[in-house]
Amino acid sequence: LTFESFDLPNDLQLAIYEMGYDKPSPIQEEAIPLILEGKNVIGKAKTGTGKTGAYAIPTISMIDKDDPNVQVLIIVPTRELAIQTASTMKKFSKYLDLEIMGALGGTSIRKDILRLENQIHIIVATPGRILDLAEKEVVDLSTVQTVILDEVDKLLSTHFMPVTRKIFNFLSKDIQVLLFSATFPKESTQVFQKEYVPDPQYINM
Ligand code: AMP
Repeated sequence: LTFESFDLPNDLQLAIYEMGYDKPSPIQEEAIPLILEGKNVIGKAKTGTGKTGAYAIPTISMIDKDDPNVQVLIIVPTRELAIQTASTMKKFSKYLDLEIMGALGGTSIRKDILRLENQIHIIVATPGRILDLAEKEVVDLSTVQTVILDEVDKLLSTHFMPVTRKIFNFLSKDIQVLLFSATFPKESTQVFQKEYVPDPQYINM
């Protein structure tokens, strides 16, 4: 299987090859078509399996560049991961000219507010900061079409769970939800999934 077998924009294919990806990794092979179909996906995969590409490639390809609203929200538990993920998203969209914003705790919220006055297609955020921006009504999360939770085990931990739930209350109810993690703590995932992730497709790597 090659990346050409998915119906991806040429400008995205070009960036994928430039990044040195010759063919999809196993998780990409499974996840990309499901995500393109609009399914909710729960993917169990370790770092190093290509899980970032597995959600980045299909979600980037679904973005409508002319839509002025935020369309994709990626939530990760740490600033380091947010920076790294935003950088990967930028590489994938190098030729697509998309606006990708990192919204992370510990940085100037005023800068975030100014940035949000312009068109943003994708936000990569840590939980506290994106909730803060939503509560201040400087970002409208009701337009988000796909939300991705990476390292879900941490985002559903006792520490983050209340924040994650509050963020979901700002999202539309019929949104596409993608959960990725190396481990899924049974109890917290089940409760969260019942409420927010209807009819998921499971991927195990
Ligand atoms: P991840 O699991 O998303 O953290 O990715 C781990 C590493 O694998 C990163 O350095 C990626 O650039 C690389 N990678 C991901 N997918 C592919 C692929 N299909 N072909 C080659 N390298 C890849």
